[in-house]
Amino acid sequence: MDKIQEKDKKYICHTYNRFPVSIIRGKGTTGYDAEEKEYIDFTSGIGVNSLGFADQGWADAVSEQAHTLQHISNLYYSQPDGDVAQKLCEYTGFSKVFFGNSGAEANECALKIARKYGMEKHGEKCSTVITLNNSFHGRTITTLAATGQEVFHQYFLPLTEGFRYVDAGDIDGLYAALDDSVCGIMLELIQGEGGVVPVPEKFVKEIEKICREKDLVFVIDEIQTGISRTGTFLCYEQYGVQPDVVTLAKGLGGGLPIGGILMSKKVEEVLGYGQHGSTFGGNPVACAGARYVLDKVLQPEFLDEVKKKAEYLRRKLLEIPQVVEVSGMGLMLGAELAEGYTAGEVAGRCAAEGLLVLTAKTRLRFLPPLTITYEEIDKGITVLKKVLDEK
Ligand SMILES: *Cc1c(COP(=O)(O)O)cnc(C)c1O
Repeated sequence: MDKIQEKDKKYICHTYNRFPVSIIRGKGTTGYDAEEKEYIDFTSGIGVNSLGFADQGWADAVSEQAHTLQHISNLYYSQPDGDVAQKLCEYTGFSKVFFGNSGAEANECALKIARKYGMEKHGEKCSTVITLNNSFHGRTITTLAATGQEVFHQYFLPLTEGFRYVDAGDIDGLYAALDDSVCGIMLELIQGEGGVVPVPEKFVKEIEKICREKDLVFVIDEIQTGISRTGTFLCYEQYGVQPDVVTLAKGLGGGLPIGGILMSKKVEEVLGYGQHGSTFGGNPVACAGARYVLDKVLQPEFLDEVKKKAEYLRRKLLEIPQVVEVSGMGLMLGAELAEGYTAGEVAGRCAAEGLLVLTAKTRLRFLPPLTITYEEIDKGITVLKKVLDEK
């Protein structure tokens, strides 16, 4: 254990079972420890570092903003948040944005919108939100309630009431869960923490239809799938649906904490003065990072490259004999390993060999920087193969 790890163990609350790796700096897709050992990064900080470590243009944009105006209360106007909101709205067709600091906070805001919309349109009792089993929406008491996985609930009861869960793909179950108390439906399109499991298109289209017919708020959590991760700016573009609310976080700031809630015309007026807020929300430095990220990841050539590299990574993974199945879309992939291999154990041995890779349930999970090169993919795959062949 190095000095960084000793101090961490002594003073940091033990909620993360960390790999014994201390990264002190990085460039692109490579991180380095104090001994200059290289680590190929197939995680991008769980989909956060969209442009990799310490991208030059991004770092310049962020530091310039820090030297100019690092924070101003939301009681006053500033430039960067408006710029980011404009880019988001112009590209997606949504009409308003609210900025917070994290994914859970973005989902909290989406749930507040769904409830207030329901109450105003359909009466006091209209406050239930349907979410999916095996979903993940965050760690606050309310987003835990939205998360359809009991393991996350235990110890923290009672959670916020007003949630119902259905299985992804179960259209009958979806109809059975509907009644006059339902104000909205929220889901991920690829369940990330749930094991990189795409939700069937037919089912998502049925949800959209129900939300239109019953005037419910249709919320898509794109916190992990968004920001060009799946080869389109937002994953729902590939599903051919149009949600009322989209939540963003992870990759939006390129490494700085920011969450965003996109609102359609239907719900843009739901939250009024004094009904929502966040001290740090729309922070100028975080937004300067996001503005730079969006300038890059919205370019058609950039998206084309993501798609090509995603196909390449998928093919390389499928060529590995111990990989039995690859799930996911774009640069959000999951690999199911042959019997006898445990994802967590393989990820641990990869880290020791200089490859950072995530797990999700029984799968290895790959969320590399969107800027990863073919050579870096090859390098990482070589390490993974070596680790798998050793056993
Ligand atoms: C990570 C994640 C969240 C929670 O985001 P935080 O920033 O950790 O609060 C919510 N939903 C999905 C789909 C996620 O992947």
